[in-house]
Amino acid sequence: MITLNGIHASPGIVIGKAFLFDIGSYRVEKKEIASIQIEIEVYHFKEAVLKTKEEIKKIEEKVQKSMGVDIAKIFSAHLMVLEDPLLVLDVAQKIREEKVCAEYALECVLQNIANSFSAMDDEYLRERAVDVFDIGRRILHNIIGVVRMNVEDLTEEVILVAHELSPSDTAHMHDGKVIGFVTEIGGKTSHAAIMARALEIPAVVGLKDITFRLRNNDTIIIDGSHGVVIINPDKETLNEYSHRQDEYCAFKEGLTWLRDLPAQTEDGFRVLLSANIGKSEEIEVVKREGAEGIGLYRTEYLYLDREDLPSEEEQFNEYKAVLLNLYPCPVVIRTIDLGGDKFCTSIELPLEVNPFLGLRAIRLCLRHPDIFKVQLRAILRASIYGKAQMMFPLITEIAELQQAKSCLLAAKRELDEENIPFDRHIQIGVMIETPSAALIADRLASEVDFFSIGTNDLIQYTLAIDRINEEVAHLYKPFHPAVLRLIKMTIDAAHKEGKWIGMCGEMAGEPLYTVLLLGLGLDEFSMSGSSISKIKKIIRATRLDEAKAFANEIMQETSSNEIWDVLNKTMMERFGNILEI
Ligand code: PEP
Ligand code: MG
Repeated sequence: MITLNGIHASPGIVIGKAFLFDIGSYRVEKKEIASIQIEIEVYHFKEAVLKTKEEIKKIEEKVQKSMGVDIAKIFSAHLMVLEDPLLVLDVAQKIREEKVCAEYALECVLQNIANSFSAMDDEYLRERAVDVFDIGRRILHNIIGVVRMNVEDLTEEVILVAHELSPSDTAHMHDGKVIGFVTEIGGKTSHAAIMARALEIPAVVGLKDITFRLRNNDTIIIDGSHGVVIINPDKETLNEYSHRQDEYCAFKEGLTWLRDLPAQTEDGFRVLLSANIGKSEEIEVVKREGAEGIGLYRTEYLYLDREDLPSEEEQFNEYKAVLLNLYPCPVVIRTIDLGGDKFCTSIELPLEVNPFLGLRAIRLCLRHPDIFKVQLRAILRASIYGKAQMMFPLITEIAELQQAKSCLLAAKRELDEENIPFDRHIQIGVMIETPSAALIADRLASEVDFFSIGTNDLIQYTLAIDRINEEVAHLYKPFHPAVLRLIKMTIDAAHKEGKWIGMCGEMAGEPLYTVLLLGLGLDEFSMSGSSISKIKKIIRATRLDEAKAFANEIMQETSSNEIWDVLNKTMMERFGNILEI
């Protein structure tokens, strides 16, 4: 049994079989094995070699048919290495003599073979060292049982274990086959973590080296509430966690009575509790949890994982369906936020050193006005089917907002000329997710109908902390005084202009901050569906005057440590059961 600690990304407990999905650049480690394990390990290795031979033979046949005998010869050379009896004998000997795992024994033997190739005079033979490592990697995959396939092709329930999950991998997790996941990289606001919360799948991220700590089909426990992963648990631990799993479900069940109650404080101050979605499939979860609208619809998911761009018609139908499904609740449709860590093949993106500081979101749309206009037209056309609101991501200055608005105006004019109806009063907002936008919020406020604070990015850009880098995840602090000041400034600026303001960053769904944000005057909280009942419970147990006094007290503090102490102490005392679960 091995217990590991990562970053808690999505709450809940799940026990299941590990499925090694993507091992990134796998590093082999020397793992010692018990004497009783030796022959099993040797057998395991021999099986992996046989499997690799079959794979290579198949590839050879295929290549021979499609590209001719000469090219296929490369694979004959691979087969020769595999059929060399010394390879199997040497690896088996190493496992037996040194009592080490098969992958480590293989790596050592292959290294020796490659070294002797590299030392040869003949250039052709020298280059065969590359083939040796290529074969090594194939055998290694078969030893640890990694299979690279698409998430949508999974046929049974698994816990995905991956180096990284791309947005398109996570976009296919709706069908229930992925019951939990662990990744080596990423932070709490990486897209994979956000998607896990949206789908209510327990997840732990930033767990370095997890892919080589286990093998396919190992039993693992994920405690997504506390960031714990246990590999091959003993019986006692299994029992303990299945008991905890029941407790967690009972806790969630115990909150369902809140579903139809309003999100209002004890003294009657009403806020809006909305949900964030990435794909229309998430709507059912969101409705079940009692969301009063969609505060962030991440439309870029429509553009991922495909060769072509979604047409105006396709987008129109998608937005219309979401609006109709949620009617009469509001739906904030965010125009595409591609770039950063969300890449799509149909728009040519430059290779950037710092994609999060590059051609992302509104910048990309303004660079490609034709693509932008297709989306604007689709949103406008759909707007008559419900309460649509539209917002632009990553605005950093007035000129950018004005440019975006003039694209919108052009789209409206076109629709008018074509006699196509749209909601003429559709509300327009901007996301406040850069320090520059927060600092000029007073100016931006007069240009729009609402703001939505995107704390995931606001924190990363304010504190210079890459939101998906697990190395600096401990420095990613929503409670940093600079972040809180920017949030307060933005809320005050919106209210001064008589505009409403929401928050759709992950901070809005974290119980630790609910009372503080209420006290700072937030009007709308938008979060993953799974957080709604917890946040509602806190709001309904709080008085607005008490929240304001608390926010005042917090804003007086000087350092993030002091703020953390006050926040944590007060919230744990009052809502420990919600924060802990
Ligand atoms: C944010 O930045 O807080 C946000 C909600 O947008 P995204 O996570 O999609 O960047
Ligand atoms: Mg953002």
